[in-house]
Amino acid sequence: MQAIEDITRLEGDFQAMRELYPDVFTAVPHITWNNRLTNCAGRCWTHPRQGHHCSKIELSTKFLCTNGYDILLETLLHECAHAIVNKRHNASMQHRTEFRAVCDEIGCKNKACTYDYAAPAARLTAAVKNYIRRY
Ligand SMILES: [Zn+2]
Repeated sequence: MQAIEDITRLEGDFQAMRELYPDVFTAVPHITWNNRLTNCAGRCWTHPRQGHHCSKIELSTKFLCTNGYDILLETLLHECAHAIVNKRHNASMQHRTEFRAVCDEIGCKNKACTYDYAAPAARLTAAVKNYIRRY
């Protein structure tokens, strides 16, 4: 099933980012797949009180199903760029110069959440839901 292959590939991409930036993703072992997230394709959660260490990278399973690997890879890189900037500057820099510089550093084209996403899938198949449950 395509979505499950895409999830596996994106997990591999995230592990590569963890190896490149071990101090950023120490507390984040894998992508958090959100089956209900439909207002955006991904999010980066941080704990400002803990020094802006990245706490989780979340991606929308429903957006993945309708947009596919290439676009969700850009989303993953975009959220990772937020995490890296937050750690480096100990502050949320939104999509400012510092953020765009990190996007260039990691090869992310999606610098301001401007991707033209197809609407998220209305429903997920049982196979995808069961796969996600393992994480
Ligand atoms: Zn953003």
